Amino acid sequence: MSTAGVEPMAAGATALAAADGPLAAARHQLATAARELGLSDGLHELLATPRRSLTVSVPVRRDDGEVEVVEGYRVQHNYSRGPAKGGIRFHPDVDLDEVSAMAMLMTWKSALTNIPYGGAKGGVAIDPRTTSPPELERLTRRYVNEVLPLLGPEKDIPAPDVGTDEQTMAWILDTFSVNAGFSVPGVVTGKPVSLGGSAGRAGATSRGVADCALWWLERQGIAPRGATVAIQGFGKVGAHAARYLHDAGLRVVAVSDVHGGTFCAAGLDPTLLLDHLKEAGRVNDFPGGEPITNAALLAAEVDVLIPAALSGAITAENADAVRAGLIVEGANGPTTPAADAILRDRGATVIPDILANAGGVVVSYFEWVQNMQSLSWSAEEVFRRLRITMRKSFSEVVDRAGDRDVDMRHAAMAIAVERVADAHRSRGLYP
Ligand code: NAD
Repeated sequence: MSTAGVEPMAAGATALAAADGPLAAARHQLATAARELGLSDGLHELLATPRRSLTVSVPVRRDDGEVEVVEGYRVQHNYSRGPAKGGIRFHPDVDLDEVSAMAMLMTWKSALTNIPYGGAKGGVAIDPRTTSPPELERLTRRYVNEVLPLLGPEKDIPAPDVGTDEQTMAWILDTFSVNAGFSVPGVVTGKPVSLGGSAGRAGATSRGVADCALWWLERQGIAPRGATVAIQGFGKVGAHAARYLHDAGLRVVAVSDVHGGTFCAAGLDPTLLLDHLKEAGRVNDFPGGEPITNAALLAAEVDVLIPAALSGAITAENADAVRAGLIVEGANGPTTPAADAILRDRGATVIPDILANAGGVVVSYFEWVQNMQSLSWSAEEVFRRLRITMRKSFSEVVDRAGDRDVDMRHAAMAIAVERVADAHRSRGLYP
């Protein structure tokens, strides 16, 4: 047992039950891959531990003049294969454990899709829904100022995540550039197209999620037309995934957000739902559906379930109730290790987060490549390259899973961890 909390390589029921926090769950997945790849204890420990973690106090001046101090984080898990890369989350429950876990997932995601990045993540423990736009701007700029020494287009490149968007990225770009004394578009991705953002970035994660679902259905000989899907989380990832799958012929029978869900056996129209969400701020009172709870959505009788909200949505407590044969992880870490084992025993297929939602980081990489070369690709070019990259990764995972008789998460993790381990071995240990 290492000092860094590295899980021993045995994976019994006790280890599974203990692995329910986000970082413990991420380390559990790593331990499984490390065992399969025969990694040395030292390399395993190195990969189980973030390379850099910065915790900052962010004072934010509220609109009434009061000052409140909130905690922020930026964690760089690994940058052996290239600059650290990962989103920034604004959510009241953000903590160092969760940010560290998500930074680790980013390392695997970059490695799995074979883009030259490491993994990072940031977060601020604030609720953007109760924070006004001017407060959010002040908060973002002050947070960036506190983590500034870590950032840079060749060091660490943030992107949007839960609670942040294009506007947040524009403020980050501006704050970084003002400090640098010149404009640095490559310091963030997911920014507005007017500032060097890429065509096609907004829907990239969702396209990857939808394509993974469609490629799997195709392999199973299930026609998309008439197949059913339920989606938890109707935000940047879930809403567009609903649209793409609806356009491909699937029936989107249930979607939800933090307030609850809406269900219609005949199928919901995602475009009408989006219009409703813009007006009402929630989906559970959509006139074209019946209200359902998030718990009922996860248990819906559907072909495909897409958790696209927060981590830890499918747990040992509710995994038994999941009826879907295919779970496509739009969110990061939505399935706990114990839930994963239950789903596997039931014969359900899980397309893991580091594959299913990698479309976002892939197009972020394309955005950064365009920025570094002062180029601008068309949306068609971006989508063509995205599909090639995602399809290659999907095939590699499916092939390895078939060859080794393991599930897709094990296969994806083994491919990713092997690539990062190879980079470490080639670079050697300094000094
Ligand atoms: P978002 O903030 O745009 O949307 C999140 C959605 O989840 C909202 O509909 C929200 O109401 C809902 N939600 C929040 N808490 C919930 C709860 N307890 N129960 C049910 N629904 C809840 O965020 P997003 O960018 O769509 O990200 C969603 C997930 O996808 C996160 O796990 C994120 O890390 C992951 N992800 C996002 C991207 C990206 O490009 N945005 C890329 C990869 C992974």
